[in-house]
Amino acid sequence: MTETILKPHQKELFGHPKGLFILFFTEMWERFSYYGMRALLTLYLVEKTTSDNPGLGWLDSKSIMLYGWYTMLVYVMSIPGGILADKVLGQKKAVLYGALTLVAGHGILAIDEMWAFYTGLALIILGVGLLKPNISTMVGGLYKQGDIRRDKGFSIFYIGINLGSLLATFIVGYVGEKIGWHFGFGLAGIAMLLGLIVYLYGQKYLVNVGNKPTEEDKRNDVSIPRLMGDLITSPINLAIVVLIIIYAIYAGFTYDGVDSWGYTVLYIFIALVAGIMMMIYKNLNSQVSKDRYLVLLLSFLIVIVFWGAFEQAGGLMSIYTKTNTDRMLLGWEIPATWFQGLNAGFIIIFATFVAGYWAKRKLKGKEASSLFKMAIGTMIMGLGFVFMIFAASEYNAKGSSGMQWLILAYLFHTIGELCSSPVALSFITKLAPVKYASLMMGVYFAATGLGNKVAGVIGESASEFGEYAIFSGITIFTVLFGLLVILLLKPLKRLTHGAEDNERIIDEAEGFELTDN
Ligand code: GLN
Repeated sequence: MTETILKPHQKELFGHPKGLFILFFTEMWERFSYYGMRALLTLYLVEKTTSDNPGLGWLDSKSIMLYGWYTMLVYVMSIPGGILADKVLGQKKAVLYGALTLVAGHGILAIDEMWAFYTGLALIILGVGLLKPNISTMVGGLYKQGDIRRDKGFSIFYIGINLGSLLATFIVGYVGEKIGWHFGFGLAGIAMLLGLIVYLYGQKYLVNVGNKPTEEDKRNDVSIPRLMGDLITSPINLAIVVLIIIYAIYAGFTYDGVDSWGYTVLYIFIALVAGIMMMIYKNLNSQVSKDRYLVLLLSFLIVIVFWGAFEQAGGLMSIYTKTNTDRMLLGWEIPATWFQGLNAGFIIIFATFVAGYWAKRKLKGKEASSLFKMAIGTMIMGLGFVFMIFAASEYNAKGSSGMQWLILAYLFHTIGELCSSPVALSFITKLAPVKYASLMMGVYFAATGLGNKVAGVIGESASEFGEYAIFSGITIFTVLFGLLVILLLKPLKRLTHGAEDNERIIDEAEGFELTDN
């Protein structure tokens, strides 16, 4: 028997390409820095300037506004980050430049000056935009088309994300709050430096993924300015874009608040992205790729609904935890912020079970398409709010509610997230036209960013309608929405043209096929 000598990038670990673990640790440190800094941001903004660990002394409303824009912009910038990778840099270089920008961004925040604060935030927005969509696309690139391990690979990658977030919440949170904000920010910078080192070390495992577009690719490609040029000659599409822009200007004049013109800029950006999306559709040259592209865009609606409900975690649910929940355990009060760690903790525990369950179902030939999983995930997450309804009624009756409701709610939210979020990442890498792979990943992250914004708007309305009504409304809407997707599953799946049929294990080195894992 002849023995094949495998090159580093062909080697495997735990049944997956070794490159997956390089991307896992790079992203783990990136998320550590992102969530670490995010955990400190609003606290730093509102902390009095006269305290022992002085902050900026901003009003709550101004701080929440900055936080909202910041967390949305990091995801929206994934669109230009994706375009840059698809058209010029390739994903591998884009991730590298993203990591360097993030080291600089978090590093600068360690300096206690206002110019450093704004420069740091801007660099982080650019850095995440360059890194986040492209590293996710690279995970997909490690697997061949039709390889059933891809979904599981994304779930493993997702564990890395949450490991980073969990560690950061405790470590950066502690250092920033107790020792000094700028030490916390600096620590996030060091973490990103570790991510960069892992990534540089691991290049030999990433030889086949995320490479620059070749001259041939570029010759066959349609540039973004060309697409915009086409838009001008396409009356219906142009009319849609112009209508959104008119609305954007209207928003600027009529919205309340100092950030109304921020919305105008955002809507104009959305209009341009919508224009590009429509023109890409027109330019795709086969019906199969057009249909797949369409179903991908439709799936982004699920993404917005999912995150619009899920992200109550950061707002309404965390306030609920702090003010309405009895957090006493054996005479000691559990800090409200710790409940935020439940989601990441549950992900680390359950990710491989959930992914394994779906993979087994698929091997048995049962329904396990990505759209089905995303719909089921949205429903499970929505059902988690039933426990919040129980909590709200207990609070109304007794003046406080038990923490078991929150734990159960977060458990359901997490199982729902595991059925939806890593699956969506994987789905994009299966369906996106290859030359727009990173752009589509960017649009996906922008959709999650939009979901966050929707969550904020719903959360704010709680003061008007009450928590009971909001939690009930979210449950009903998400369950009905999930059912609707399941009802439409057949026609939607037809649009994928079998992109997920006959998935099996395909070994990178030899194209060697196995039947089970
Ligand atoms: N928590 C996940 C992450 O940080 C999902 C974020 C998102 O999709 N917006 O990657």
